[in-house]
Amino acid sequence: MAPTLSPPDLVARLQSKEPLLWLNPNLGSALPDARPSFKQIVEAEQRLERCEALLANLFPDDICGPLESRLDCAAPLKRALMPPDGDQGAWFLKRDDTLPVAGSIKARGGFHEVLAVAESIAMRHGLPDIDADARLLASAQARALFARHRIAVGSTGNLGLSIGVLAAAFGFEIVVHMSSDAKPWKKERLRQRGVQVVEHDGSYSDAVAAGREEARALPHCHFVDDEHSLLLFLGYAAAARPLARQLAQAGRVVDAGHPLVVYIPCGVGGAPGGIAYGLKALFGPHVHCFFAEPVASPCMLVQLAAAGDQAVSIYDIGLDNKTDADGLAVGQASLLVSPLMASQLSGIFTVSDEQLYRQLQQAKDAMDIDLEPSAAAAISGPSWLCGSVEGRAYVRDHELDLDQATHVIWATGGSLVPREEHRRFQAHAQMLANRSATNPACAD
Ligand SMILES: *Cc1c(COP(=O)(O)O)cnc(C)c1O
Repeated sequence: MAPTLSPPDLVARLQSKEPLLWLNPNLGSALPDARPSFKQIVEAEQRLERCEALLANLFPDDICGPLESRLDCAAPLKRALMPPDGDQGAWFLKRDDTLPVAGSIKARGGFHEVLAVAESIAMRHGLPDIDADARLLASAQARALFARHRIAVGSTGNLGLSIGVLAAAFGFEIVVHMSSDAKPWKKERLRQRGVQVVEHDGSYSDAVAAGREEARALPHCHFVDDEHSLLLFLGYAAAARPLARQLAQAGRVVDAGHPLVVYIPCGVGGAPGGIAYGLKALFGPHVHCFFAEPVASPCMLVQLAAAGDQAVSIYDIGLDNKTDADGLAVGQASLLVSPLMASQLSGIFTVSDEQLYRQLQQAKDAMDIDLEPSAAAAISGPSWLCGSVEGRAYVRDHELDLDQATHVIWATGGSLVPREEHRRFQAHAQMLANRSATNPACAD
């Protein structure tokens, strides 16, 4: 039987795959007692900071300085997408597509978890002085130790890239379980770095489950569990403070009169959930977080709209999880993250694949940025908030002064995507644009 979602017409609207904005009726409700603490987020920030020099040593060609991405002014994108009348605030793009080594938002959670595991193994085995100098985690002694340990992960692609490349650099034995929709170039890139790639016929959840099972049976194996991992979550949450610093540097105030609105693409929910959680810890009610999900894979939306403890997947309402946004092709949301987002998330909007390609092209035309389809999902966020009936209701109910708002669109991946693939994305976007120009009925 199909689950009951609220509002009552939501299931039919999701089944029609018509893009929509869903507002979270439980925003502002109490957080569960079992929740990550502020102290844990600070510890994640400190771990990433402590390991800056280590990462720079491991990847001298790719990393210099902190593992942080730029915050770009996105005025050209705003000009392209918004009606010229009215102000409606300042637009920024958070450029996680340029994060070094991993090329996606997965660098945040993935690196944090591998670093935490490496530190913990080194501590357990009495490796000296690593808390004084994390660079010792790259010593010959540490390598010999890590070679006896295995790290495994299940992934649609980008998490595997992030975990795989860093774990391999440390000398871990590393296995990445990939779903069938993972892109061939991602598998290839990992194999080149000595990572074992195991391919699974089924979905992302099947790949995760297979990896989890295998890891359970092995001693000395750490499984990075994208559906449950607190270490991943905390690594993402650590993104909040650097963003706050960048906003301050850009002269943007965040308070009751100056709302911050953040739009982030959502797969299983760890990355956007962690970031939203970290931002809420810093800005409270003055930050408004919206997620973007493909129309075929709105897993966080169905989980939150079902408003219970029971797991609800997109398959339960007859959706097929078929989307070109491979990073977002997830059928079941993380049950670690969904109870937290139940009280913190403002809403979720959905995106068709056609729209993804259009947005990818808009980022290219306006800002000369090459994103992967998943990473373009959030670009329609401000238009939903400022231009839809639901969005305007939200603005009214929360008394947001849009002219004073700061909109941050999270661009989540793309810089490692081969040239060839980017050309294919753009050709596809062009083909769709031509088709809707010659046949207006096909637009949207
Ligand atoms: C993984 C990913 C996301 C979403 O992160 P989740 O933790 O799965 O919700 C968004 N964009 C890209 C490019 C990704 O790889």
